[in-house]
Amino acid sequence: MELGQLCFGNPTERFALDRETLSERFHDFLERIGLSIYGTSRWGKTFDTGSDHYATFRNDTFAIRPYYWGECTCGCNEEIGQPHSDDCALMLPNFEHFPSGLKVTWYKYALRGAFSNQELSDGEFNGIFASCLDSLGPDFDTGKPKTDISGEVLSVSSRNFARFVTLKTSTGQVRLHMSGTKPGTDLLVAGRKVAIATREGRPLPSIVFVEPVVEHSH
Ligand SMILES: [Zn+2]
Repeated sequence: MELGQLCFGNPTERFALDRETLSERFHDFLERIGLSIYGTSRWGKTFDTGSDHYATFRNDTFAIRPYYWGECTCGCNEEIGQPHSDDCALMLPNFEHFPSGLKVTWYKYALRGAFSNQELSDGEFNGIFASCLDSLGPDFDTGKPKTDISGEVLSVSSRNFARFVTLKTSTGQVRLHMSGTKPGTDLLVAGRKVAIATREGRPLPSIVFVEPVVEHSH
C-alpha cells in the first residue's frame, strides 16, 4: 500500500475485496473495455474522459483510473497531518460506479490490495459489472485490431536475422515474416499488426509488427 494511503487513507473506503473471487471477473470486465489489468489502454485506443484527467475510461455509469504513481496534487501539508482533498489524485478511486456510489481502490493493478467503500455480495458485484457493460452498448469499440487472419503458430524459424512464422489458419498455412513469437500461441493478424493470444484465446498486451504476409501454401 502506498504511504499516502497508509497515513491519510480515505476513511470511507474500508472493505477489503477478495482478490481470489473477484480478480478474474474484474480483469475480464477491463478487457471488454479494451483496458489492461492496470487500467491502461490495451490496444492503443484512448477514450474521452472529459475533465476526469486521471481516468482512462469514463462514461455516465462508471470510470476507470489506473493506479496513480505521482505526487499529491491538492497541495495539503502532509507533515502536519493535513488530509488530502477528495479530488487529490492520490485519493481518486481506481474504479467508480456512479449509480451505486461504489468506489474501489487498488494497488498497482486490479484488484491487488483492493478496498471498496461498500460491502457487496458476489451477486451485487455481478450486478455492477452488468450495469457497466450495459452502459457500453453492443457496438462498443475497444480498439482491438480487426483480424484479417487468425490461426495457430506451427513453427518459428530464423534465417539471416529474419524470423518466419508458419501459421495454420482455417484456409491453410500462411507464412509470416515478422519479429517473433513462440509456437503454440495464436496469432491475430490485421494488416501489419499482429496480436498474440494464448491457447485460451486471451490476448496478451503485446502487439508486434510484421512484414506483409509473404506467401500462401496449401
Ligand atoms: Zn493531496
